[in-house]
Amino acid sequence: MSEFPQTDLNKVKRLPKRGQYDKKTIYQIVDEALICHVGFVLEGQPFVMPTIHVRIDDTIYLHGAVANRMLTHIKAGNNVCLTMTLIDGIVFARSVFHHNMNYRSAVLFGKGSVIEDYDEKWNIFKALTEHIAKGRWNDARKPTEQETNITTIVAIDIDSASAKIRTGPAKDDEEDYTLSIWAGVMPVQMQFGNPISDEQLAQEIHVPEYILNYKR
Ligand SMILES: Cc1cc2nc3c(=O)[nH]c(=O)nc-3n(C[C@H](O)[C@H](O)[C@H](O)COP(=O)(O)OP(=O)(O)OC[C@H]3O[C@@H](n4cnc5c(N)ncnc54)[C@H](O)[C@@H]3O)c2cc1C
Repeated sequence: MSEFPQTDLNKVKRLPKRGQYDKKTIYQIVDEALICHVGFVLEGQPFVMPTIHVRIDDTIYLHGAVANRMLTHIKAGNNVCLTMTLIDGIVFARSVFHHNMNYRSAVLFGKGSVIEDYDEKWNIFKALTEHIAKGRWNDARKPTEQETNITTIVAIDIDSASAKIRTGPAKDDEEDYTLSIWAGVMPVQMQFGNPISDEQLAQEIHVPEYILNYKR
């Protein structure tokens, strides 16, 4: 299946032409995002938590402390909603009403389960590390048995998903195009600065290539 079926759950109803359902488009957003927001309901109270994620095939993995409330809820097999958002521009229209953003966002739905197998946990530690910076896993000290045991990893199989994408200039009402008001798009990019080496680093340790050339 290369596309998620459109159902009442994932079908974009507001501005449906911005909706996309193919895995390629959705997974590009998922993989580029540094964080995701996890939405879940506990005893009637909704929570939305930002967290690090990684995708392997059609599954999203999250990790954290054994006592983590969100992970405890997910590992019990409950439904969750995950959102990844990338901002590409701020859209300044002539009217306040039509101000907007250019964005690519993905909304994913699925149920959780827990990863107990030690080797599988290690694979996911590796995938999470490489999701943040390709090359880091080989460099960094690997998790100990104790560190592995005190970390919960949950898997969320993606049952349904959508992307919503806005691109292009401001769209004003026809009569507003003659107004003497600046309109346009301020492009937005995620920028990474110069790495700051740790103060306790031995002098002979240089910044690795994958950090110097870091990009997403
Ligand atoms: C950076 C950013 C800023 C935004 N600002 C606003 C704002 O100020 N006001 C506003 O009303 N809306 C804003 N949106 C759009 C917002 O995310 C919703 O799409 C919109 O509010 C419609 O909500 P709804 O519940 O009526 O969606 P519906 O169209 O009823 O949602 C149905 C289904 O469509 C899919 N869907 C809806 N929205 C998205 C999405 N963004 N990404 C992926 N799938 C989606 C989901 O699967 C959802 O279950 C913004 C989006 C982004 C990414």
